[in-house]
Formats: sequence, C-alpha cells, structure tokens
Amino acid sequence: MARPVNRRTFDEVIVPTYAPGPFVPVSARGSRVRDQEGREYIDFAGGIAVSAVGHTHPRVVRALTEQAHRLWHIGNGLTNEPALRLAQSLVARTFAERVFFCNSGAEANEAALKLARRVAADREKPKKGRPAKRHEIVAFTESFHGRTLFTVSVGGQPKYSEGFGPLPGGIRHVPFNDLEAARHAITERTCAVIVEPIQGEGGVRPASRAFLKGLRQACTAHGALLIFDEVQSGAGRTGSLFAYERLGVVPDILTSAKGLGGGFPIGAMLTTTELARHFGVGVHGTTYGGNPLACAVALAVLDIVAAPATLAGVARREAAFHEALQSLNRRHRVFSEVRGMGLLIGCELAAPYRGRAKDLLTIAARHGLMVLIAGPDVIRFAPSLVIPMADVKAGFKRFALALAEFTALPAAKAG
Ligand SMILES: *Cc1c(COP(=O)(O)O)cnc(C)c1O
Repeated sequence: MARPVNRRTFDEVIVPTYAPGPFVPVSARGSRVRDQEGREYIDFAGGIAVSAVGHTHPRVVRALTEQAHRLWHIGNGLTNEPALRLAQSLVARTFAERVFFCNSGAEANEAALKLARRVAADREKPKKGRPAKRHEIVAFTESFHGRTLFTVSVGGQPKYSEGFGPLPGGIRHVPFNDLEAARHAITERTCAVIVEPIQGEGGVRPASRAFLKGLRQACTAHGALLIFDEVQSGAGRTGSLFAYERLGVVPDILTSAKGLGGGFPIGAMLTTTELARHFGVGVHGTTYGGNPLACAVALAVLDIVAAPATLAGVARREAAFHEALQSLNRRHRVFSEVRGMGLLIGCELAAPYRGRAKDLLTIAARHGLMVLIAGPDVIRFAPSLVIPMADVKAGFKRFALALAEFTALPAAKAG
C-alpha cells in the first residue's frame, strides 16, 4: 500500500528548488481548483501563464484522450500527424514558415540562440574550432529566458546564473527599454538580440513599441537576428495570438511554450525557411520534440485560443481586471502602478508594502484565491483566457478580503 502524501512529503523526497504553498491541489475544472482537504480556489495564476484555456477543458481532454488511444511516441526517425498539423496551424497563423518543436520555454530559447550562432558561423565560415566574429548575443536586464546554462547566462537576472560558472561567453546585457544603449551594443559582432515583448518574471514590464521598432531597425541594419521570447506573452495572452502582431514588429525567430500546451509540456521555435536551413539534419534535436500527445493537445488549445471570440474575450476580461483593481486600489492604496498587456497583469506594491508580495499571495490563498508574484514587489495575474466573468467577480471578492487583511497587518507578520 502506498503511504498517504501531503505537503510535508515534499520536504522529505523532493529536491528543494521550490517552496510550494501549504495546500496540495488534486483536481481542477475551468478556473476552479480543489485541494486535498476539499477546499476550493479561484485560479488567477493559471499555472504561471500556462493554463490558457483553464483546467481540463473538455475539447482539450478529448484531444488528449483520443490521441492517448492512438499513438504516444514514435521518435524523430519518423514524423507524425499531430506534429504536422500543429506546425501547419502555427505557420498559417504567424510570420513563420518553419517550426522546431521541443518541450519547454528554455529549450525553445536554447534552440533560438543556437540557431543564431549557427547562422553566423555558416555565413562566416570561421577556422575550425573557432567561433564566428559575429557571435555576440544582446539581451536585457531583468529578462528571463529559462534555466539551461545558456539561457540563464543570457537572462538578465544574475541570481539565476550565480554559482554555475564558467558561463557561456559572448553575451551583453543592456537596460530594458533603453533604445540608445541597445543601439550602442548592436554591432557587426552581434548575431542576435533576444527580448521579451513584455517581461514576465522581471515584473510584468511591457517593452515600448518604439523600443521594439528601434531594435528591429538596428538588427536589420547590422545583420543581426531579432528573437522574440514569447514564452509568456504568446498563445493569446495579450489579446492577439502573439504579442508581436499587436506591437507591429516582426521578429526573425519567435519562441513559444507555456500557454501553447495549456498545461501539457511543449515548446516551439518559429522561424523563416531561410534561417531554418541552417538547422540541417543532425545539427539540433530532442527526443520528445513533436511528441504526438503534446502536439495533439497544443493543436486543440491553439484552435480555442486563436478563435476571434477568445481573443476578443481577453480584452473584455482585461478591462474587468483593471476596473476591479483600480476600484480596490482606491480603497486600499496598496499599489503604486497596475500595468501589463491583455491578461498578463502586474501590480507594483506601493512604498509601505514593498518586498511583501509573497505575504499577500499567502493571504490570498487563505481566502481561496490563487495569484502569482513577479519578484518581491509585484503581484501578477495570468488567469485562463476564458475564465468565466462570474469567477472574475468572485475572485475579486476574495482578493478584497485578502487586501483588507494584508493592509491591516504590521509589516513582515503575514506568514
Ligand atoms: C517561463 C519562461 C521561460 C522558461 O520556460 P520553461 O518552460 O520554464 O523552460 C522562458 N522565457 C520566458 C519569457 C518565460 O516566461
């Protein structure tokens, strides 16, 4: 007989890279989650911008179970129908002409960065064993691109790469949204610029349109590739399928993951035919890339997310979130700024509450509401794109109770 498991079991058997909350979810439907105790939560977190169509969406469950009875895995010595259909659908809906599938956001970015280096090396043909002169990657402070060694090195938060040296070289960081600094850094030695159209982990900070347009111009002028990391901002999150459409700036390479699988692990790197040529047979790969189960699920998610009604619904829910937050903030004066795009919303804690985002998250959970943080000073919301309006309303009732408790508390007493 298996022994019962609970939150304490985590501390006994799991590598302590996370500090999970005190309850253990066991089932969910739509934007409602249940824990082991039978307590119910409203989900404004969406599994960190992953559950794009909520939990156990009937159409996605059907796609998964139908595929589960048909074919799970075949390996990349053969192709499969779900991968082909998903790639077709992504190509039809975006600037891209070719898709590389993998299993996560970090892997999608790893592929994008490796492709940029490879393109430069193929064009330049440096001496064997030498890197191309054009090998530099320009990235931005506070950015987040994943946890592989290359992606933590490219990411703009040093805490994630500390203690893992020696790190890959040829990476330059410049301040986010500072076009002058970026123009300075982008030279004939730059193979790629990688940017999140809206920084997620870095505190929900949208890039300005002028900044992204300027990056596009500088990249084109200097022969560098522009990579948009849309792992968090993509899959309908901002109200267009990918944020680049709204922003009117087209990258050379785009990475997707998180919402793309709606909770099933998948990542994708999208690019042009011309660039894809440089990833010839054997140059890059991964065992599970294009896995039939993952692709069948993502295809169902994409069908829902890309529907005009869903994208229009994002704008309606965005407005409802902002209205509720503004009204609560008039009462409690707890946020100095509410920002974001679509259903990726960040609330910066005002001076008296700085550093206490985690406390507010903990209190919200006690009131039956799941929220996210983005650093110590920002409460983040990334709910399902199809969260029922009634759940939005009910969720904000709970958030109001949490805020009342939080603001009544002396500092650093929430735990
Ligand atoms: C989450 C995230 C990643 C990493 O994705 P994983 O699936 O955790 O590897 C990369 N880039 C951005 C912008 C993200 O938000």
